[in-house]
Amino acid sequence: MIDLRSDTLTKPTPAMLDAMMSAEVGDDVFGEDPTINTLERKCAELFGMDAAIYCPSGTMTNQIGIRVLSNPYEEVICYEGAHIYKYEGGGVAGNSGLSFKLLKGDRGRLSLDEIMGSINPDDVHFPKSAIIELENTVNKGGGCFYKMEDIKSISEFGRKNDLKLHLDGARLFNALVETGDDPKAYGQCFDTISICLSKGLGAPVGSVLLGSQAYIKQARRVRKHFGGGMRQAGYLAAACIYALDHHVERLKEDHARAKTVGDALEELSFVESVLPVDTNIVIFKLAVNRTSDEFMNRLEEAGIKAVPFGPKEIRFVTHLDFDDDMLEETISILKHLK
Ligand SMILES: *Cc1c(COP(=O)(O)O)cnc(C)c1O
Repeated sequence: MIDLRSDTLTKPTPAMLDAMMSAEVGDDVFGEDPTINTLERKCAELFGMDAAIYCPSGTMTNQIGIRVLSNPYEEVICYEGAHIYKYEGGGVAGNSGLSFKLLKGDRGRLSLDEIMGSINPDDVHFPKSAIIELENTVNKGGGCFYKMEDIKSISEFGRKNDLKLHLDGARLFNALVETGDDPKAYGQCFDTISICLSKGLGAPVGSVLLGSQAYIKQARRVRKHFGGGMRQAGYLAAACIYALDHHVERLKEDHARAKTVGDALEELSFVESVLPVDTNIVIFKLAVNRTSDEFMNRLEEAGIKAVPFGPKEIRFVTHLDFDDDMLEETISILKHLK
């Protein structure tokens, strides 16, 4: 089976497992796991931010980030397909007591104009506009990424208008290897940043939330409330350190393979359109008379797993465990599908 459902499906490589097995560990709730402390420092330094906290998932780092930046009854401005809105089980409402202002964006990339037009007046009828949340790369937008100049202008506007900024950077490294942007520029633009090590970077578990000393101190309290305080999790953090040291540059290979799959799909009669392939995500729309459900069945019978992404849309994600042989086989299977 060729599994293109997600870049979370990868298994640790032998070298990553070696790094995990030899990790020095301690109780992280007491702040005594040296490997977690190293990971947190390494991430904070990379983005030029004060501090960082290791958590079990990207959902948790997003939820904690939003929580420490807000007060109940306020509003978060984000893309209508944002992970924090669509794929976190409604957590923002329950965990932080917030409502959403949902914007369309360009494939989910919000423009400054759209954001400016979405700020509520200072009037008791309206929830207070409190947080601008951006996602980079944008999952629902087919893995597209922002230009740094656009992020900078959104950040400047936010800071002038007493809005906090959170970045869902689950796939930020996919954007960074394409743009060549300095991670520290991101650190300057946002109050909190969530990065996932368990997506394209190939670690088995974990995400990191970055921010100021004060926010991360508060984040440690909230992580405890959420039940996310782990003990000798340095074994997992060792995999994350290994991933940061060895698996960032190779993301370009995933992008090249995704592009090849996207180009092949363009030629097929059962495909109506393919979103531009900018990183490791390929989203395509099926032709008339086709539905994702029936197509998914035939795809799976032919040996490829994918995710339905709408009534006529399918998503493929390339990753560390999808190599050139699998790429060749994928193209051949797709060409022979009826
Ligand atoms: C995967 C993902 C997350 C975090 O997901 P977890 O499975 O909780 O680690 C957050 N944002 C985006 C855009 C994602 O794709």
